[in-house]
Parts: sequence; C-alpha cells; structure tokens
Amino acid sequence: MNRTLRKLSTVIVGTLLLSTIMTTTTTAAAPAASHNVLLDRWTGPFGGIPPFDRIQASDFEPALEAGMAAQQREIEAIAKNPAPATFDNTIAALERAGRLLDRTSRVFGIYSSTLKTPEIQRIESDMAPKLSAHSDQIIQNTALFHRIEAVFDAREHSGLTSEQQRLTWLTYTNFVRAGARLDAPAKARLTALNQSLASLYTRFSQNLLADENEHWLALDTETDFAGLPESIRAGLMAGATERGIHAKGAVLNTRSSVEPFLEFSSRRDLREKVWRTFVSRGDNGDAHDTNALIAQILKLRAERAKLLGYPTHAHWRLEDSMAKTPEHAMALMEAVWTPAVERVHQEVSDMQALADRDSTTAGTPKIRIEPWDYRYYAEKVRKEKYDLDANAVKPYLQLEKLREGMFWVAGQLFDFHFKELPKGQVPVAQPDIRVFEVSTGKGAHVGLWYFDPYARPHKESGAWMNEYRSQERFEQPVTTIVSNNANFVKGRAGEPILISWDDATTLFHEFGHALHGLSSNVTYPSLAGTSVARDYVEFPSQLLEHWLSTPEVLNRFALHYQTGKPIPPELVAKIHRAETFNQGFKTVEYLSSALIDMKLHLAGDTPIDPKRFESETLAALGMPHEIVMRHRTPQFGHVFSGDGYSAGYYSYLWADTLSADAWEAFTEAGGPYDPGVAARLREHVFSIGNTVDPAEAYREFRGRDPGTAALMRKRGFPVLNPPTQHSR
Ligand SMILES: [Zn+2]
Repeated sequence: MNRTLRKLSTVIVGTLLLSTIMTTTTTAAAPAASHNVLLDRWTGPFGGIPPFDRIQASDFEPALEAGMAAQQREIEAIAKNPAPATFDNTIAALERAGRLLDRTSRVFGIYSSTLKTPEIQRIESDMAPKLSAHSDQIIQNTALFHRIEAVFDAREHSGLTSEQQRLTWLTYTNFVRAGARLDAPAKARLTALNQSLASLYTRFSQNLLADENEHWLALDTETDFAGLPESIRAGLMAGATERGIHAKGAVLNTRSSVEPFLEFSSRRDLREKVWRTFVSRGDNGDAHDTNALIAQILKLRAERAKLLGYPTHAHWRLEDSMAKTPEHAMALMEAVWTPAVERVHQEVSDMQALADRDSTTAGTPKIRIEPWDYRYYAEKVRKEKYDLDANAVKPYLQLEKLREGMFWVAGQLFDFHFKELPKGQVPVAQPDIRVFEVSTGKGAHVGLWYFDPYARPHKESGAWMNEYRSQERFEQPVTTIVSNNANFVKGRAGEPILISWDDATTLFHEFGHALHGLSSNVTYPSLAGTSVARDYVEFPSQLLEHWLSTPEVLNRFALHYQTGKPIPPELVAKIHRAETFNQGFKTVEYLSSALIDMKLHLAGDTPIDPKRFESETLAALGMPHEIVMRHRTPQFGHVFSGDGYSAGYYSYLWADTLSADAWEAFTEAGGPYDPGVAARLREHVFSIGNTVDPAEAYREFRGRDPGTAALMRKRGFPVLNPPTQHSR
C-alpha cells in the first residue's frame, strides 16, 4: 500500500517559503519554548530533515492554519498577476506555492498513520473539513483557472519541454476534474460535499481503529495455544504484555495477529471466535459501526460525480487512471474471477477430503470447511501436497536478514547502497524507527529511508510506504525521504524476528514503493516518484516482490536463525513448486473486495444499504461460501477512509498484470538480474515519476503493450486465448 500524501485532494499544493519563515530558521539559535518548529524549513544534514525531536502535537493545528493562509496569499498573487499567463508565472508558480502546507501535511500524515493518539485524532477531525475547503477555494479561483487554461491551450507551441507540457496538462486536468469549470452555485455545493466527505472519512477510520484496538481474544490456558508454533506463540504473548492485557497471550484484532492464528491454531472454537471478531470490525451495531457512514459516503460521492459531469463516482475516479474507464477494469476482473472461483472449488475439495480423513482417524464428528477453517486446512494441504511446511520455512526468514537482502537487490538493480545512521544523528518520531542513508556506488547521496517495522498502539495496521519529501530539481536539487512501515510483532528482546513468507513478500513490496520514490529523477515535485496514476503505483512495488524468491537472495539472506545455514535447495524447490498453491483463495479473497468496491461506485445515486448490497452482490457473483472478502465493506479502509483507493481497489490486479508481464521481460532475457532489462526498468519505469503517460512508458520498457497471459501463468490459471490487451 502506498500512502504518499496526495497533496490535499487533487490540488497541486505547490511551494513557497515565506520570508518570515526563512528568517526564523536563519536566526533562531535557541528557539523560545513556545516556538512552533513546524513553521520552519527543515534544517540539518541531507538538505534538511524532519525535526521529529522537537514536534509537539499542539504544533500541528497552528502550522496547518499558517500553511493554508500562506498558500492562499501565494495563490492570490498568481491569480492577480497583471502579466499575461506563462508557464513560469502560473504553472511553475503553483509548484513554488504551498510549501509550508505541503511539508506540514506530510509530517501530520506520519503522525496520523503511525502515532495516532487521541489528540492527533481530534486534530484530524477538526482539520479535515478545513483542509478540504481550502483545497476547494484554490480549485474554484476563477482568475487562477483562466490563467492555467491559457497556458494549457498554448502548451504545444510555447516552447515547453515535454515535462513542462505534462505538468501543464496535469494541473489543468486536476482543476477541471475537481470542478474548476462549474458555475457558482455548483461550486458551493461541491465544497459542502467535499467537506462532509472529509469528516465522514475521518470518522470511518477512527471507528475502525477503535474496533481494532478495543477487541481481542485473551489466551489463558495452555490449551488455548494448541497448534501454534513457538514464534507465533511468543508474538501473541508479547502482544498481551504490550497492550497491558492480563492474560498469558492475546490475539489482537489486527490482520498481523489474526491471520497466523487462523493458520495454525488447532482450536476450531477459538478460530471461529477470532475470525468472527475480525470480520465484524465496523459491523457490530454499536457506536463504532460504520454502515451508516458508508451509506452516507456513497450517497455524497454519487452526487459529487453527477455535479462534475460523470455518470458515477467510478467513472470520475478512473478517468485519469491507466485503465481509463470502469469497463476496462471490470473486464480484467471478470476475466480472472471465473477461473479463480473454479480453483477455489478444487482447493476446498482437497481440504474437505483431508478434514474427513482426519475426523475418521480421530473418531470425531465430520466438519464442513468454514471460512475460519480455510487458512488452517490450506496449510495442512500445502504440507501434504508439496511437503512444504510454513514452520520449516520461517526459521530462515529473519526480518533483519531479509532487510539486508532487499538492500542487496537494490544494489544489483539500482546501484543503491544503504548505510544505517547512528542512533541520534537523525531525529525519529518513535524510538524503534531507524534511519538509513541511500547512496550510489560512486557515493552520491540519493536520499533517506526510515524503517518503522513494529506494531504498537495508535499505529494503523498493515504495511505501507510514506514519502516524507519528494525528489525535485526545480529551483534547487532536493533528495527523497521515504519510509517503510509495518506491523511485525516485536517478539522477545534480543531474539531475531521470524516472519512468514507472506510477510517477507510484503516487506519487498513496500520496499518497491520506497525504491520508486528514491529512483525519482524529475524536475517538478508534482510529477515526482510515486505521484503516478493509482493503478500504476502498485506496479513497481508488486514487481519487486519477485526478487525475494530468487536463489541469489535466498542463498545469501534466508539463513537459519540458529545455525546460520542458508535455506536448503530442496526447500526452495518446494517453495517454487507451491507458488501457485492457494491462488484460488488469494485471488477470490482480494477480487471479491475489488468487485464490491467497483460495483458500489457504479451504482450511481441508488440508495445503498451496504450490508444488503454486499450479500446480494456476492451471491450474484457466486462467491464461494468458504471465503470472506479480504476487506468486508464495513472495514474497507482503502475505500472509505479517503478517496484514494475508492473505485480503485482493482488497481492491485491491474498492476499485477503489469508486474507479471514485466517480470517475464527479465526471465525471457538473462534472468532476474539482467543488467540491460534493469537499466530499461530504471529508465522507463522507476525514475520517470509522472512525466510520461504510463501506458507509453510501459511500451518503452517492454516494447509492446501488456497482456494477461503472464498474470494467468503466475497464478496457475489457464491462459486465456488470445491474451487481452488492455492498455491504451
Ligand atoms: Zn503497495
């Protein structure tokens, strides 16, 4: 997941440093106790670093207010410029404007995802509608829009570089898509809608976090731990201690705690309990229930889309994506859905046979595979069919060693080298966070990578990448600062953290986003790094997942935590043989969520009861009874805690189509580390940000459009003939 701040909705929040702010930084040797450090430009090494050691939560509100006021003044100056509109006095000037707000919002984004205390939550609730109104005020500035339009109309014959033309197109399109052309009453309505939505998103994510924090299953007796391998058991015990839960261990209501328990616990009754609590997040009919919020969000989104001239929210959202239309995205999802469901039926029958045999052997009553059994029996089938035991793999998957492995891959493909900075050299928001400097082989500074691996209270669940600062060389060269964030259970002090194969894949995934940010080599910050189309941004990250299973990485870095010996080749061979195992489950779990997301947002202004919609749509799709959506509607944070992935959860499948196809570019050539293909990848994918249309950039890299054949092969599904070309 990529949580790069989308610069306050779709507005180009540009940059300008107020002279007053510059003064503070150059003079203040010993700032007064009440000094708000967020108002200052970042100082220190690496072109300035975020001053986490001096930020107080109470600084955010005044800094965000000051940032909005400053940007408003800058925008007025651009709009009222008596000189005719040019690229420099309009488009580039917008890039210069809003720097204080951009910087503050990014730091606030770090707090609201990783240190979301009640105080931060309150600020978030208070500020969300104000920020949304501010962004609308810029979009709706008619004089400003006319200047943008003038530069846009003249873009092809005013001597602009292709990057400048792209930025002009993007700025203009963002303004139009956000309502710049509407008449005054429509603009007023749009502002009201955006503000209401901003508040609803905040309430949704806070309700969800509350349900994750306030529910857990306490494990008291030895039998409560039945079936759990040592590392998972240790994690659950550490989790209870950390949360101050008075029990031997606890299954927290988060994915990283729940999934391993469902995979290994032999206590079917406890699995059911844990599963029910987890899939009921936001759906308990209490104060944190999100169903009413969702109905309201969908209603307001449908109204907004109509107002902006689109049939539905999905049409509006997809217009500037690589897929372009909901129909293209639906066609891909539907093509994959049928073979995936077919595969689930086979998987279930394998598991049912195993469960029946077990009950006969044990003389216990027969069971029918239920959703809380899927992960448990899938693991057993994997063991039997592929002789692959996840617990046999895990001792080789040490978090720290895999981190070194990722660094090694970055060295091979990107000539990036990572060096950990001594504690204290660069301030961090929380003591567990570590900072690494990234340089090229020749020693040129590339950027900083912050690593925040552990779960803790007030941190959102899951894994993601943040961009603290984007690369640019517009007025002066600025280097990238990115972070990778995860929720690994810390385990016992001094012992290596062993992670699952899936978690190792996620680790590489998020690192792919980080490399995308770090590779950026563009002029304008709005086009930098991961600021690309939503269905393209997951492509570099999903592609990077592939390098985990290369022998080069496994032999060097998948080392047994006790013996230090590399993972045996027989075990690697088993991992490869089992690669397409359980792809029915994985695809259907994901795709059911993606289809519900798209269908909810294609329904237009039909009033929606989220619960009924979900169950009726799944029934119509033929959703297997044994699987639940990866994100049920009431807990679908991707879609309801912001506009970001709304009508956009399909992006992961879209991007995986690209990544499977791109990986075959390596395997068709000299292998995963082929220098020629790696160079093309850097040149046409990782370094260009949004300076080139993604479909064109892909064609440059691959020599042709992407097809679905590689995706079907990767998942072990029958290859459709002929392969569908879906890029335009
Ligand atoms: Zn991602």
